[in-house]
Amino acid sequence: MSGNPYPLGLRLAGRRVVVVGGGAVATRRVPALLDAGAHVFLVAPELTPALRAHVDAGRLHWAPRRFAPDDLDGAWLVQVAVDDPLAAASVSAAAAERRIFCVRADDRAAATAWTPAVTRHGPVTVAVLGGGDPRRAMAVRDAVRALLDAKKGPLLTPAVEEGSLPYPQGGRVALVGAGPGDPELITVKGWRLLTEADVVVADRLVPGLLLDELRPDVELVDASKIPYGPSRGQEEINRILVDRALAGKFVVRLKGGDPYVFGRGGEELLACAAAGVPVTVVPGVTSSIAAPAAAGVPVTHRGVAHEFTVVSGHVAPDSPASLVRWEALAGLRGTLVVLMGLKNLTAITATLIAHGKPAETPAAVVQEATTGAQRALRSTLGAVAADVAAAGLRPPAVVVLGDVVDALADGAGVEGFPGSPLAPGGQA
Ligand code: SAH
Repeated sequence: MSGNPYPLGLRLAGRRVVVVGGGAVATRRVPALLDAGAHVFLVAPELTPALRAHVDAGRLHWAPRRFAPDDLDGAWLVQVAVDDPLAAASVSAAAAERRIFCVRADDRAAATAWTPAVTRHGPVTVAVLGGGDPRRAMAVRDAVRALLDAKKGPLLTPAVEEGSLPYPQGGRVALVGAGPGDPELITVKGWRLLTEADVVVADRLVPGLLLDELRPDVELVDASKIPYGPSRGQEEINRILVDRALAGKFVVRLKGGDPYVFGRGGEELLACAAAGVPVTVVPGVTSSIAAPAAAGVPVTHRGVAHEFTVVSGHVAPDSPASLVRWEALAGLRGTLVVLMGLKNLTAITATLIAHGKPAETPAAVVQEATTGAQRALRSTLGAVAADVAAAGLRPPAVVVLGDVVDALADGAGVEGFPGSPLAPGGQA
């Protein structure tokens, strides 16, 4: 049969879709069907572990047997995902009899519908058919995806509710984690929202390259340049977020690492909520995990550490303002990750040792992790403060204490993030 395919976007929510087969093809097709809200009925004597997980979670119905023609009763679509051409042909025949479109993984010529190669960008779905050549479809899809990834502008924005205009109640705010420094370590969602923003309010620790790629008409507010003390500064940032959103703008508040790890994201969320501004929170890759990783230190390791604790060192241990029980931390066996700890490092290490943490506990310090300027050194709890001073390490830096520092020593030199690996006994 010839003729060009007629493209459609099927709206499958609540509709029965039958999948025949429980192997690799079904494993790949089922998630998009579930994402579309289809009632998936899966017929197969056996399942892959991934499909079984869907069954166990109650996301689809599984008939553990061979296909029977009346499985298709009430179905809107059938996906044939079996290798056996005879079995597939019998599903096709039953589907044709009932006038149900039938996708065939084994035989495109025998299929009555083809699965396109797809790329999704928020609300936009681009589907590509390659004239019967799936490789060509994928190549074109990849090219389109690259174009859309590079595209900044209202084309892909925003998620418009059916029957409504963009920004029905004025603007909104997204608190987005930018990751630890490498611009590629922002999440896919964070990146998409960034390309959609009208206003971007950025922190000092935000990777500059991310900002480099913003549309020229985006208003960029550098939060680190806002004058006044720390708390007045925060009030001013809250005011900017709320004002711009109430003026109908989409504001992205971009923060280093994760917005809720010592990032004051909660305060900004409360300020927006108080003003009735809707907020989305997009978590980020936090430096408390990524900075150790970038220097070859896993925060947990089997047989070495079953816990990791992240603590801020910005308040000195003996200060009345300290909320940290350093004496309790000294008694933990696991990994201790100290952020904002360089200024008080002498006092912090002395306090931990005074409360019983062994001075020979391995220590690592990683400055500007995951960036081209990364520096790292390896030391011990007893010596690390002096070593940091001698090496001239500066913030932003993460201090890691615990046996995990040595856990991957045998794997040194494995390629990972930019920057130098840890050299035992000194600076790398
Ligand atoms: N929300 C951030 C942390 C903000 S507090 C996060 O989740 O990562 C700022 C502290 O984070 C810095 O003082 C430093 O201790 C740490 N930090 C952030 N980025 C870093 C990086 N690239 N390398 C090392 N430490 C970093």
